[in-house]
Amino acid sequence: MTSTDTTKPACLVCQQDSSAVPLITLTYQDTTLHICPQHLPILIHDPRKLVGILPGAENLSEADHHD
Ligand SMILES: [Zn+2]
Repeated sequence: MTSTDTTKPACLVCQQDSSAVPLITLTYQDTTLHICPQHLPILIHDPRKLVGILPGAENLSEADHHD
């Protein structure tokens, strides 16, 4: 087994697991992800900060952005 084996859900930003923080389950591009309440606002308001962490984050628009 390698260290990339991720059987334990953890926040995609801070990697804390559910023993440390409540985790919110996300489904995105058929992938199940988890994020903690501390980092959920980043996903909502500034998802581009997740580029490099969340695949496809560069395609997300900010919640307060209107075309
Ligand atoms: Zn987090």
